[in-house]
Amino acid sequence: MEEKWNLGTQAVQGAYRPKNAEARVLPLYQSTTYRYDTCEELARVFDLEQDTPMYTRLANPTTDALEKKICNMEGGVGALATSSGMAATTLAVLNILKAGDHILASSTIYGGSFTLFTTTFKDLGIEVTMFDPDSSKEDIVKLAKPNTKLLFGETIGNPLVNVLDFEKFSAVAKEIDVPFMVDNTFATPYLCNPFKYGANIIIHSTSKYIDGHASALGGMIVDGGNYNWDNGKFPCLVEPDESYHGVSYVEKFGSSAYIVKARANVMRNMGMTASPFNSYLTNLGSETLHLRMDKHCENALKMAEYLKNHEMCTWVKYPYLSDNKYYDLAKKYLPKGASGVLTFGVKGGRDAGRKFIDSLKLVALVTHVSDARSSVLQPASTTHRQLSDDELISCGVSPDMIRFSVGIEDVDDLIADFEQAFNKIK
Ligand SMILES: *Cc1c(COP(=O)(O)O)cnc(C)c1O
Repeated sequence: MEEKWNLGTQAVQGAYRPKNAEARVLPLYQSTTYRYDTCEELARVFDLEQDTPMYTRLANPTTDALEKKICNMEGGVGALATSSGMAATTLAVLNILKAGDHILASSTIYGGSFTLFTTTFKDLGIEVTMFDPDSSKEDIVKLAKPNTKLLFGETIGNPLVNVLDFEKFSAVAKEIDVPFMVDNTFATPYLCNPFKYGANIIIHSTSKYIDGHASALGGMIVDGGNYNWDNGKFPCLVEPDESYHGVSYVEKFGSSAYIVKARANVMRNMGMTASPFNSYLTNLGSETLHLRMDKHCENALKMAEYLKNHEMCTWVKYPYLSDNKYYDLAKKYLPKGASGVLTFGVKGGRDAGRKFIDSLKLVALVTHVSDARSSVLQPASTTHRQLSDDELISCGVSPDMIRFSVGIEDVDDLIADFEQAFNKIK
């Protein structure tokens, strides 16, 4: 029944259905472990014959409820929560790739993911080729190698706010027969369902809009159950896992093979587990996801239009502005709105931008995006501080860029705060 509910209902009630006289709110199971009556029953749990929790590194009832909710929102076959968004990306990739394999990734993905791929994975022997996501399908296909095992993109790029061309990416993935993994953090399942457009695995940093209140780090991996792992490229899912009594995930778990292995093998061995308390907070925050996203989108579009018409603003990028390069893609894949993040520059460039940020009173300078409170950051002087001006431009971050995460406050107060800050740099 829950699978059929619309997203707003899933957000509010999807995670947890209390029985008679049970707690109305999803309880926090702050326990590492679980008691069993008999050795025989616990052995069944170890053998993956019985799906009940035995140790919180692998499963916890609070986290389990959050996983089911996000899974149903995305329309997947299973989900696994992790300690952070970076942990989700790491686990999602290491579940199927090993030394000697190759990743094709969009160059405009989140900086943390970019560095994970180009340094840590490289050190582990996994190669990556980054490409411009606006390249043609043919040009991307040409970059594939015999050892390519994954195509990776981001629905809305952080911080470039570029929109992914799902049709092109899924056509590339089909042509070279590799899974298509999408970071759907900025869009959330409310604004975009990547599985509808050919994605096979979705990851989230729930630290952003899904929690929505900047109170809990977390990540989520959702399996679309729609990739044929038995094509010779992924023996780890097909051949017996000797560390799990010789189980073949594909044989035993069919379309859920990927997500079962992610938990039973990589999570068991690496332990980047979501804290039950963070799952509790994230679930509470997610109950208003649909309401918040509508307001984020509405406020962001108003702020983008305000900035576009402001004499002190030199440029503004927001996919829902009709002159934006990604407008058509945004209308196609993000029909309810383009999220709450936009970027802009001010007259006087980098230095004036710093003064503008320092002058804001309501909108705060923080290293975060996508929560209820409006915030700004100048990537060139913070997250991208080590890069030269030329390097900044080559990765699409102009030295004067201000990233603005528009919150759900009253937009008139945001405009008033911007007005007084613009007056300080005139
Ligand atoms: C923040 C972010 C991440 C990393 O998530 P953490 O929870 O901070 O580890 C990954 N992808 C995107 C798009 C993000 O914005």
